[in-house]
Amino acid sequence: RFEDAWRTFMKNNPLPATHGRICYHPCEGGCSRVHVDDGVSIHSIERFLGDMAIEQNWHMPAPKIETGKKVLVIGAGPSGLTAAYHLRLQGHTVEIREAAPIAGGMMQFGIPAYRLPREVLAAEIARIESMGISITLNHRVEDLMAEKQEGQFDAVYLAIGAHIGKQVDIPARDAGKVLDAVSFLRETGMGEKPVLGRRVAVYGGGNTAMDAARTVKRMGVDEAMIIYRRDRDHMPAHSFEADEAEAEGVNIHWLRTIQDIEGSDFNVEIMEIGDDGRPRPTGRYETLAVDSLILALGQDVERGMLDRVPGLEFDRWGSLTVDENMMTGCEGLFAGGDMVPSDRTATIAVGHGKKAARCMGEWLQGKAVREGAAARENVKHLVDYDGLHLWYRTQADRQHEDALSPEQRNDFREVVHGLTEAQVRFEASRCFSCGNCFECDGCFGACPEGAITKLGKGEGYQVNHDLCTGCLACYNQCPCHAIEMQAVQQEVSLPAMAVRMEVR
Ligand SMILES: Cc1cc2nc3c(=O)[nH]c(=O)nc-3n(C[C@H](O)[C@H](O)[C@H](O)COP(=O)(O)OP(=O)(O)OC[C@H]3O[C@@H](n4cnc5c(N)ncnc54)[C@H](O)[C@@H]3O)c2cc1C
Repeated sequence: RFEDAWRTFMKNNPLPATHGRICYHPCEGGCSRVHVDDGVSIHSIERFLGDMAIEQNWHMPAPKIETGKKVLVIGAGPSGLTAAYHLRLQGHTVEIREAAPIAGGMMQFGIPAYRLPREVLAAEIARIESMGISITLNHRVEDLMAEKQEGQFDAVYLAIGAHIGKQVDIPARDAGKVLDAVSFLRETGMGEKPVLGRRVAVYGGGNTAMDAARTVKRMGVDEAMIIYRRDRDHMPAHSFEADEAEAEGVNIHWLRTIQDIEGSDFNVEIMEIGDDGRPRPTGRYETLAVDSLILALGQDVERGMLDRVPGLEFDRWGSLTVDENMMTGCEGLFAGGDMVPSDRTATIAVGHGKKAARCMGEWLQGKAVREGAAARENVKHLVDYDGLHLWYRTQADRQHEDALSPEQRNDFREVVHGLTEAQVRFEASRCFSCGNCFECDGCFGACPEGAITKLGKGEGYQVNHDLCTGCLACYNQCPCHAIEMQAVQQEVSLPAMAVRMEVR
């Protein structure tokens, strides 16, 4: 039931093919299967479904109602696109205004094509647009309140990201080219080829630094290196990203800070990690030969347009603060994604967009927004590993995606390939279905009283409480803990996803 699976996914996230590629999938670390062998490869199933939807041209249905409310979304990155999608599903009229010539935000202009092919992203954005959402490109919003008023918008979702590359003051004489990583990735993403020289250093240890260095390497320079002040254990990048960069030939100089630059000579100080986990200087130096420097030291939120909006507040890092319902200090103006305080990932940005849309929906209807309205609604019956009754063991090793060999990674072709259909089916079958009945019929077989009746595929079971003696046979064998025992007498018939036995 691939299409049903995709539609289930789409209830939360309109970008499955994209997310199946770029999400850092922390969910897999929380998967109960890690206690047995390895978490289910959730992201690759997501990617498979997303790709199939693009291939099969699956679309979302038109909203059932039109509310007549108008919402302006500023920024067509993952957060703005997701908010727009959920607001449209609720029946609101949504317009997105985007400064860049292409939608997608950092997914388009930051994340390199070897991790996210642009045709995949474009297809998922086109599907969002096809729901009747208009995206005006090349339109930088300068005066938010004026645009809101002129367009007679009832509410605004602001998701302009954080695009100003942080700078650092390094004494330099005759230094070669210095540029920031986001501008560099943007230029190369647009097909430009900045002149960099033979030896290029990227300064920083985050994910952006890894992508910048891997991109530099693909541009055919003699030496792509990273200079970073901490060690591998203390870097902000995920370790698989450093592994991939190194496998592709990027040379990482750990525990180094740039002190000064004279021409191509970079004087770097060797650092060490103190007991507090922070890097500290050692007074020892070495010289690295570098022609161009790319700064990947993080990004700040652009404040220009925001300073004219009444009521906004910022934290000490310059991020725009929002309340638990994603509303800023300006009534009716919601915000999310990289510009608000939180981890900066496409996944969080999408989550903010979804949560904000739900809160905005309630606000637009004049209801008091329920605190954290978005987060809890999908959680039905959460069971962790200790709550499972796994009376069997399965040997089912995680399926791994194929990838180009490091030697083949010399252009912007996608590095990681998806799983095959057979692998996806196998991977899905590794799921323990924690807390969700998958109709294994174990309870039906275990009941000594014949109190349980099968209602047919997808319909679950019915319990006859007059016959049930409360012996727990069904409960104890239920591997996914979809059955709860309660000391209440009541006839119930529940769908497969939430079977609950109630006994005398
Ligand atoms: C190199 C790099 C690699 C990354 N890799 C990953 C990854 O693998 N996985 C992951 O989860 N995250 C990754 N991230 C982080 C992720 O891309 C961001 O967290 C995410 O894109 C933030 O989404 P957003 O919608 O808040 O902002 P953005 O994606 O930045 O989008 C904001 C949009 O607003 C537009 N805009 C700005 N100002 C205005 C204005 N005044 N008017 C109109 N439009 C405006 C911008 O042009 C942009 O399109 C990466 C980031 C970078 C830089």
